[in-house]
Amino acid sequence: MKITNARVIVCSPGRNFVTLKIETDQGLSGLGDATLNGRELSVASYLTDHVIPCLIGRDAHQIEDIWQYLYRGAYWRRGPVTMSAIAAVDTALWDLKAKAADMPLYQLLGGRSRTGVMVYGHANGADVERTVEEVLRYKEAGYRAIRAQSGVPGLNSVYGVGRGTMFYEPADADLPSEHDWSSEKYLLHAPKLFEQVRQAVGPDIHLLHDVHHRLTPIEAARLGKALEPFHLFWMEDATPAENQESFRLIRRHTTTPIAVGEIFNSIWDCKGLIEEQLIDYIRTTVVHAGGITHLRRIADFASMYQVRTGCHGATDLSPVCMGAALHFDLWVPNFGIQEYMRHTDETDAVFPHAYEFRDGFMFPGEAPGHGVQIDEALAAKYPYRRAYLPVNRQAHDGTLWHW
Ligand SMILES: [Mg+2]
Repeated sequence: MKITNARVIVCSPGRNFVTLKIETDQGLSGLGDATLNGRELSVASYLTDHVIPCLIGRDAHQIEDIWQYLYRGAYWRRGPVTMSAIAAVDTALWDLKAKAADMPLYQLLGGRSRTGVMVYGHANGADVERTVEEVLRYKEAGYRAIRAQSGVPGLNSVYGVGRGTMFYEPADADLPSEHDWSSEKYLLHAPKLFEQVRQAVGPDIHLLHDVHHRLTPIEAARLGKALEPFHLFWMEDATPAENQESFRLIRRHTTTPIAVGEIFNSIWDCKGLIEEQLIDYIRTTVVHAGGITHLRRIADFASMYQVRTGCHGATDLSPVCMGAALHFDLWVPNFGIQEYMRHTDETDAVFPHAYEFRDGFMFPGEAPGHGVQIDEALAAKYPYRRAYLPVNRQAHDGTLWHW
C-alpha cells in the first residue's frame, strides 16, 4: 500500500485544529491529529515542508520503520513540534492499516481489554456553590468520574473556570490574556472546595483536581495532604515536571495519587517518574507523544511499575486524537482513565466520528480504522484564526508564573 499523497488541513470550527491526511494507491486514506495549541502553524509547516516529501512512495504498512525514520532521521529529536508531527503520521498510518484490514483499530493493537473507557468530565464554577452544582450536573449526566475546578476568592480568573458550563476552552484570545495567581489564596481555598464537593456527591464518584503546574513541590505536598480526607482519584500536574526528581518531595508527604504528563512528548520525559514510582498515572497523549506507536511504548514501560494511563483529552485535541485514544484505551492493559472534554457542535460536524459517550463511558465504535473522518468542504468554511492560551502572573507583584 504505497503512499501517493499527503496534505495538511488547518481549520477552526470553534477552535484551531491541524489534521494530516495520507492517501494511498489503494484508494484508502488515513487521518492523524497534529494540533499543538497556540503553535498550530509550526507543526503544519514541519509536516508540509519537511515530512510529507519523505513520505511519498513509502509503504504505508511500515509504521514502525517510518516512525524510526522520522524520529532518528531528523537528527533533532523530541520536542512538541517534532513529536506532534510524528504522531500525526503515525496515527494516520494506524488508521490506514486498520482500514486495510477492515477492522477497528483496537483489534490490531490486541483486542479489547475492557467493555468501555471510563472518562472524567470537567466541572467548573466561579465559586464553591456553583462548582458543586456543576459536579452534580455531571453526576446526573452519568459520569462516574468528575474533575472539579473553582474560582478562588480574591483572584479575577483561574485555570479551569470558563464562561459556560459543560464546556471549557481557555485558548480564546488573539494575543495571550493575563490571569493572576496566588498560591496562598489557592491553598486555603482548594480543601474547602473538596470538602463541599465530596459531601454533595457521596463516596462513590471519583473526584479529580488539576493544579495546572501552579505549585512548588512542597506546596504540592501540602495540598495533597490536605486533600487526603476527600480521597481523590488523582491530583493533576501539581508542579512543573522538567525536574522529575522534584516529585520525590511530594511523594514523601502524601498518599493522594499523582498524575502528570499532558505536556510530555517522550518516554524520556517520564522515565524517572515511572521507574521511581513517583507518579500513579501517566497522562501523555496520542498527538503530543509520538502517536500510538510511542504511547504504547510508554504504557508498557509504565505497566512494570503499576503506573496506569490517563490520557489528556482537552478540547485542543481534535476528535481524530480522541478517536485514536479511545482505541488505545480500550486495549491498553494498564488503563486508568481518559479525560473527555466535549467539543462544540461545529467541531463535531467537521469531524464526524464513530465514538460515543454512554453512562460515564466512551466507546470507540466498530468502524474500520479509528473511526473519525473530516468533512473537508465544511472545514474550508472555518479558516485558521490565531488563538493563544493565557499567561499567568503573581497577583501581588506581577511576576510571570506558570499558566
Ligand atoms: Mg491538565
